[in-house]
Parts: sequence; structure tokens; C-alpha cells
Amino acid sequence: MIDFRSDTVTKPSKKMRDIMHNAPVGDDVYGDDESVNQLEAYACERFNFEAALYCSSGTQANLLALMAHCERGDEYICGQNAHNYKFEGGGAAVLGSVQPQPIENEADGSIPFSKIAAAIKPDDCHFAKTRLLSLENTIGGKVLPLEYLAQARNFVNTHNLALHLDGARAFNAAAELKVDITDITKYFDSVSICLSKGLGAPVGSLLLGSQTLIDKARRWRKVLGGGMRQAGMLAAAGQYALEHNINRLSDDHANARYLAQKLSALSGFTVDMSNTTNMVYATFESSINIEGIAEALKGQGILFSPSKQLRLVTHLDITRENIDTFINALSAHI
Ligand SMILES: *Cc1c(COP(=O)(O)O)cnc(C)c1O
Repeated sequence: MIDFRSDTVTKPSKKMRDIMHNAPVGDDVYGDDESVNQLEAYACERFNFEAALYCSSGTQANLLALMAHCERGDEYICGQNAHNYKFEGGGAAVLGSVQPQPIENEADGSIPFSKIAAAIKPDDCHFAKTRLLSLENTIGGKVLPLEYLAQARNFVNTHNLALHLDGARAFNAAAELKVDITDITKYFDSVSICLSKGLGAPVGSLLLGSQTLIDKARRWRKVLGGGMRQAGMLAAAGQYALEHNINRLSDDHANARYLAQKLSALSGFTVDMSNTTNMVYATFESSINIEGIAEALKGQGILFSPSKQLRLVTHLDITRENIDTFINALSAHI
């Protein structure tokens, strides 16, 4: 299958599976899993944070961050399009009694600081207590520039807030900016990182923060059913992903640009050429029966989500030849 639906669809390689097979394990709830411990220690070094926590998913890592930063009755400010507001089932409110305060994202994915400042609640019993600003990078495939992140740090310092990064695809941002990951993560009090997207691990995310924050998150992880026992087989895949699958992310970005060019040359498709990482967004003329095409291409082993605004994602299981195959199949149907 050639699968453009998401970078979550990547499958573990033979080498990754071998590493998983041989990973030393123990009971992680007792702190005994060597592979989990090794991954968490490695992540502290790699991201330059005091502590790290291996989590079952990005959703869990974000929720734990929100629940560790905020108490019941607190609020976090985030973008209207933020994954940890829009796409995580309202977990912070449902499970954390934490109120989201979403603000419309600009087209480039940023949130204007004037709007954030206006949304911060005064200390008054009518209001929830504003505790945290949560940003996302990349967001919808777009990279927030380092300058914006630096401004965000200054902003939260001024307003006495904490700063969280949903860095599910922070390595894609780093690859595009041609900087080290720490040039992005250094501005934040906590960061979540997905190992199971472009990095190619089958499962897992990391949460990074201070020791105090991660101790709190670790408690909540157990409460939420995320104490995973012999999780080392999965953690080993995560470590392999961090060690082997980062440098190649720029290939995915080059492939996305190639796909964007090819798609924009097809009649009836309008492609957002401003997207620079591993996602291609496109709209199409109403005469194009996208559901029908998706169904037909599925029969040819090509998968994509037929929504009104198409999102095609490149990743380590998509080659340039796959893109040519897709474009040829697509053009045969329009
Ligand atoms: C995928 C994603 C998550 C959640 O990760 P899961 O592992 O799917 O729960 C969080 N934030 C962003 C920006 C994502 O793209």
C-alpha cells in the first residue's frame, strides 16, 4: 500500500523489529525496564531537559503536560487548530478539569501575542486561572520560526505563564529550519514528541520537562492507565527511531515539495505551495469526484483521505516513485 493519509502509518523496519525483539525489559511501573530507562535518559541528554517520560501516545503526553502544569479550575491558552484542543477529545476538560481557551490561529499557524494577552484572565473568582500557553510546531505542516518562539518565551515570562510545546512533529520543524532540535525546545517548560509519526516507531511519545513536572506527569500517567509494564520492547523502537530516522526527514520534505509540484500541474487542483514540511494541502474543482477517485485508487493500492481540503502526507514509507505512481493514477481519473 502507498499510504498518504498520515505519517502515523509508517511500519517498523526489519532492523527496528530486531532491536525490539532483543530489547531488555522489566516492569516499568517499578522503574525496572532497562529499555524505557535508557530511552528516558537518552531523551534528557538529547533534548537537554532534566526529566523525560515515555508515554503511550502523543495525546497522552499532551494531556499529562496539561494536567501537570494546571490544577482543577485552571486554564491553558492554545490555538483554535491546536491538536491538544481540537483533536484530543477534549481530554484536558474531560479528565483534567482544565479549561481550554482557544484563540484563532493566523494562516501561518502562529497566535498573535496581543490576542493571547487579551485572553489572560485577571485574578478574580469569576475566572479560571490562566496558567499555560501551549504552542504546536509544526502546526498543519507549517513551521513556527525561532523568532516567534523566542517572543513566546518573553511573553510567558512577562505574564507569569508556563509554556508547553506540542512537538509531535518538532523534528520536522528542526529539519526545515536546519537547526538542532534543542534550538526549538529550549524555549519551553515542557515538550511532547511523537516517536510514531515521521520517526517511524510503531508506538509512543516522549514528554520532557523539569523533574518536578515529570514526577507529577508520571503519577497522572498511572492514573490514566498508562503504566505499561514491560514497555521496553516499544521504547527500544523509539530509541532506534531517534538514533536513525531523524536525518532523513528532509527527504520527506523534498518529496512533499515534489508531490506539491506534480499535483499543482494537474488540472482542477489548487495546491498550497507555502507548506514546507511533510504535508501537502490542496483543494479541487467541484467537478472532481474525489470519493470515487479515492475508492478507485484504493483498488490500486493507493490510500488517501478524500476530504474537501486534501491533506497528503509524506513519510519514510513513501518514495518518489510512489508519488509518480499516485500522480499517474490520479491523472487517469480526472
Ligand atoms: C498526532 C499528533 C498528536 C497526538 O499523537 P497520537 O500519538 O496520535 O495520540 C498530538 N499533536 C500533534 C500535533 C499531532 O500531530
